Amino acid sequence: MIDLRSDTVTNPTKPMLEAMMNAKVGDDVFGEDPTVNELQQFAAEMFGMEAALFCSSGTQTNQIAIKLHTQPGDEVICDKLSHVYLYEGGGIASNSGASVRLIEGNLGRFTASQVIENINDKNNIHFPISKLVCIENTVNKGGGACWDLNELNKIKSVCNENNMGFHLDGARLFNAIIANNENPKTYGNLFDTISICLSKGLGAPIGSLLLGSKNNILKATRIRKVMGGGMRQAGFIAAAGLFALKNNITRLSIDNERAKIIANVLQQKKFVEFVYPVETNIVIFKVKQNQLSIEKLLHELNNNNIKAVSMGNNLIRFVLHLNISDTEFDFIVNKLNDLN
Ligand SMILES: *Cc1c(COP(=O)(O)O)cnc(C)c1O
Repeated sequence: MIDLRSDTVTNPTKPMLEAMMNAKVGDDVFGEDPTVNELQQFAAEMFGMEAALFCSSGTQTNQIAIKLHTQPGDEVICDKLSHVYLYEGGGIASNSGASVRLIEGNLGRFTASQVIENINDKNNIHFPISKLVCIENTVNKGGGACWDLNELNKIKSVCNENNMGFHLDGARLFNAIIANNENPKTYGNLFDTISICLSKGLGAPIGSLLLGSKNNILKATRIRKVMGGGMRQAGFIAAAGLFALKNNITRLSIDNERAKIIANVLQQKKFVEFVYPVETNIVIFKVKQNQLSIEKLLHELNNNNIKAVSMGNNLIRFVLHLNISDTEFDFIVNKLNDLN
């Protein structure tokens, strides 16, 4: 089976497993796991930020960040396609008691003026206090769309002027960094907190990192404990994350390129209404309802050993990742070429 449902389906490679088996470990709740400490320090330095915290998932890092930036009743501004709103089980409400203001952006990206329009007057007691702007780069539901750094700079100024935090859900940030030849430190400079996933395109089996100032990471460590996320000899899994950060970033360009090739093939298909612009490793396309049902197409792909997922609204998503060999990739392209 060739699994294109997500870049989370990857299994650790042999050298990654070796790094895990050889990890030096200790009790991380006491701050004594040398591998966790090394991973956190390595990531913080990479982004030019003061500190980092190793967590179990991207949902956990995002939810911790939202909680550390808000008080119950405050409002979080984010796009209506955002993972923090759609796919984290209502965590903004249940973990932080915060309210959400949704912006209708362009494939999950909005402008600084849209942020300004959505900030509540803090002197009017009727309104929740706008406390945090949360963006996602790349945007999962936007087909892996990337943000423009100029717009992010403008939003940062709006946040500063209005005493709001600025959080980045960077589950696939490295796909954007590689696609646009950017420097992680640029992001470290822009955001108060950043979440990055080690278990997506980077290929680690488990784990995400929350990056921020020393003070914010200290608060985050307490929140992680409250959420039951304090881990003990976590160095075994942190070693996989460290291996991923050291070895699997530049190769993301292969996934990004392959996604473009697949998009070009799909664009020629009669049953495809449109393909979202492909910038990174995600391809989302719409199937013409009168030509082919989503179920039938997914079934046909499955019969050809290709797994994909529906995103609702007649949309199908393919995600490229490091567990797809050259042969498997050629196989996918041939199969898609053959479909009609
Ligand atoms: C995958 C993902 C997350 C985190 O998901 P977990 O499964 O909790 O690790 C967060 N944001 C985006 C955009 C994602 O794609």
